[in-house]
Amino acid sequence: MAAEQQKRNVVIIGGGIIGSTTAYYLSHHPNFNKQRDTITLLEATKIAGGASGKAGGLLALWAYPTCIVPLSYKLHQELAEKHGGAERWGYRAVHCGQVDMYGVLAKSKGEEDVNGKGKDDSVSLQKRTQKAIGLLRATGVPKDLNWVAADGMKAYEEMGTPLTTAQVHPYHFTTSMASLAEEKGVKVVYGSATNIEQENGAVKAVTYKAKDSTEEHKIDADTIILTAGPWTKTIWKPAPISALRAHSVTIRPSRPVSAYVLFTSIDLPRGNNKRGETVTPEIYARPNNEVYACGEGDTLIPLPTSSDLVQCDEFRCQEIFDHVSSVSEELRDGEVTARQACYLPNVSKGGGPLVGQTNVKGLLMGAGHTCWGIQNGPATGKLLSEIVFEGGARSADIGSLDPRKFGV
Ligand SMILES: Cc1cc2nc3c(=O)[nH]c(=O)nc-3n(C[C@H](O)[C@H](O)[C@H](O)COP(=O)(O)OP(=O)(O)OC[C@H]3O[C@@H](n4cnc5c(N)ncnc54)[C@H](O)[C@@H]3O)c2cc1C
Repeated sequence: MAAEQQKRNVVIIGGGIIGSTTAYYLSHHPNFNKQRDTITLLEATKIAGGASGKAGGLLALWAYPTCIVPLSYKLHQELAEKHGGAERWGYRAVHCGQVDMYGVLAKSKGEEDVNGKGKDDSVSLQKRTQKAIGLLRATGVPKDLNWVAADGMKAYEEMGTPLTTAQVHPYHFTTSMASLAEEKGVKVVYGSATNIEQENGAVKAVTYKAKDSTEEHKIDADTIILTAGPWTKTIWKPAPISALRAHSVTIRPSRPVSAYVLFTSIDLPRGNNKRGETVTPEIYARPNNEVYACGEGDTLIPLPTSSDLVQCDEFRCQEIFDHVSSVSEELRDGEVTARQACYLPNVSKGGGPLVGQTNVKGLLMGAGHTCWGIQNGPATGKLLSEIVFEGGARSADIGSLDPRKFGV
């Protein structure tokens, strides 16, 4: 009861999917009182300007960690039903499969060839755990998966069905969460957090530089929630969060394609300047005649100071397009509508994400969501709202994600 009556000043640092869903669940919590409490979402550049706006958007009951996945999957369903998510952020159930293929399609006339660059500095995003791979079962190519080249197919294995796998458009989902939170009284402030002030072992205030100015400001806070994705360590040094760059493209296919997300392994043909290598892009059919494709990560360029300074390597984007074009005419003859890069927030010691109270009173964290932050955003936000307004996580046992276990 005490927690319900006490005035709360909450500041969330970072407006990616984790900060935005946290703002949503805090502002929709029955103990939040708009007249009494304040919730501020502090974002350095743009809501969903980082990975949360540039991810694939796959949701899966077979994702990890298992302590929050079922809750988050269910919350995605509930949010979509409550707020018209099918229309607003492209929520839908999808098939998901692993395809092993030969790249058999020649390039369209006039396209440049790719050389072998990039393979040696590529880092797997680790979405397919050995366990998940072990659970795959061979089913043959489904009839309605008719947009991959039949003569290039080596094997198809089902990874998920529409009962266990879904998708959202991450940018539209994240910005909708932030808007719905704003409607309930959350104040969105654009500025970069520079310091977390403490007094007697408890948080006291956040200082920040306003966007496009050097002016320093301060917001008093009894609760500060760190949700700055790969930038979390720049604000709070003990956080064991590292960053991995990844490129992606969106394509308008030459004709609408059926609702499949494909994890691929493609043996490229040996060409003039190719080494006959195997590549593993992921391909996500989306509503509204869009296909998203991403490649492996790289460690060539360290994390820049903000999301608007992320360097996108056109060559890596072209490579992704060339690789997926070698197995699908619909993609090869389509139009590339975006070429982009972003940084994945990884946990340097493995495991994670880190969700909950840290060693400093009033300093909470929701960070290090690796390649499943879109899937696990809603559960993270809900559990953090329970910790703030009810004194502890109620909807799932997240002891294994406690930041204090990671030395934070
Ligand atoms: C290629 C790719 C594909 C992916 N596909 C999927 C997928 O299919 N399904 C899935 O579940 N996940 C996927 N992910 C993972 C997912 O994108 C991330 O886990 C998730 O977006 C992380 O969200 P976040 O809010 O923690 O971080 P971010 O999205 O990086 O947000 C952090 C925010 O903090 C802000 N910030 C930084 N510093 C400050 C500061 N000092 N003050 C204020 N604000 C600050 C930034 O501007 C940014 O907006 C993918 C990731 C990549 C790279």
